[in-house]
Amino acid sequence: MTVLSLHPDRLFAAEPQQRDIARRLYAEIKDLPIISPHGHTDPRWFADNQNWDNATSLLLLPDHYVFRMLYSQGISLEQLGIRRKDGSAVETDYRKIFRIFAEHYYLFRGTPSRIWLDSVFHDVFGLNVALSPQTADLYYDHINAALATAAYKPRALLDRFNIEVIATTEGALNDLRHHAKLKGSGFEQRVITTFRPDDVVDADRADFAANIAKLGELTGQDTQNWAGYLQALRIRRAVFRDHGATATDHGHPTAKTADLPFKEAEALFARCLSGTASAEETELFRGQMLTEMAGMSLEDGMTMQIHPGAHRNHNQVIFERFGADKGADIPSPTEFVSQLKPLLQKYGNEPSLKIILFTLDETTYARELAPLAGHYPALKLGPAWWFHDSPEGMLRFRHQVTETAGFYNTVGFNDDTRAFLSIPARHDVARRIDCRFLAQLVAEHRLNEDEAHQLAHDLTYKLAKQAYQL
Ligand SMILES: [Zn+2]
Repeated sequence: MTVLSLHPDRLFAAEPQQRDIARRLYAEIKDLPIISPHGHTDPRWFADNQNWDNATSLLLLPDHYVFRMLYSQGISLEQLGIRRKDGSAVETDYRKIFRIFAEHYYLFRGTPSRIWLDSVFHDVFGLNVALSPQTADLYYDHINAALATAAYKPRALLDRFNIEVIATTEGALNDLRHHAKLKGSGFEQRVITTFRPDDVVDADRADFAANIAKLGELTGQDTQNWAGYLQALRIRRAVFRDHGATATDHGHPTAKTADLPFKEAEALFARCLSGTASAEETELFRGQMLTEMAGMSLEDGMTMQIHPGAHRNHNQVIFERFGADKGADIPSPTEFVSQLKPLLQKYGNEPSLKIILFTLDETTYARELAPLAGHYPALKLGPAWWFHDSPEGMLRFRHQVTETAGFYNTVGFNDDTRAFLSIPARHDVARRIDCRFLAQLVAEHRLNEDEAHQLAHDLTYKLAKQAYQL
């Protein structure tokens, strides 16, 4: 059996001088509390505080990074126990699924998943042998035994992980029952929701008209007309704020924005609702709604996150069989400069507005995003996201944006994950990479070490709290 150990200098530069500086910077910030202002953990975990069942359903089944890799190597999602829409049989033996994962763990060499998972095994579960086909059962039994104990209940882990605040993400129609249950528990300030209205602004969705009707029922507004619809969204935002939300999130295919006169917007909404809008018109409507949402953020103070450019459900067969979020989303080219202009024309100069831009298209960092965020007071840059949430991706981000946007137009780290147990590991990777980047600047006499210490602290903690108003 191979030993599993995590090297204390992992992810630092191999060059000794830079490594020494990085060590000193990291020592000062490694134990700071975790701010997790954007992610997708299940609020039920924290509301109910029940023990998790088993290693497979906690560590593997919610992690689309894991099954996209396994699927790419010929393992079917049925073998991995992913439920099919048509209800036909899939693997239900969780031990067997864990063994399949262990047999193929070598596939993750060189990927961030490997770093996150090894950290979970070592730091969270205290395992000190590497995962392999030979250790699959040992892992499965050890992890399950730990998960059954009080120390591994969700709230106990929030404490152990030193998570000061964690945001989940809910759709505009969500009843927020889990966040409601947290009220009075002492955790309502620590586990907060995020308002994600994609389900009521995307007229390409098959359930759009039904969602708008439901929005009307929930808010007592006539959502069949434009003004009533906008008022209903204001009401839902207020309900989310009452459940801790300080931010909204918008997952659009592009960064398109629009600023139509009232009458035109009203007519466009009517066409979207009747199902007669063209693809161009539904795109225009999403763009109009980003601008409307920015206006509402200016009114109610919520930070606005824009996550554009994922080609969702690229694999039609997988979508039809299993539904969304199955590792079949692929990045696509994204243009910001002209697409954001209508929104920026209207609201870009508002210093009290906080709009955080993310991208899956790294070619935009230096050319578009850093210049935009380095100018408009309303704009900030979100961290390296999703496919780029990796040591190399984070370094590319810092190298490409810092000279134009500086550090203070960025907002710290987001783990953006469903995999709760990996959150400390993900934040640790970001902290190490930031220290590595700062160490290079210090070694090259572009920054003094005192400034680097302050920056390391700000990038880890202060900027996230400021940007998300936590
Ligand atoms: Zn997200």
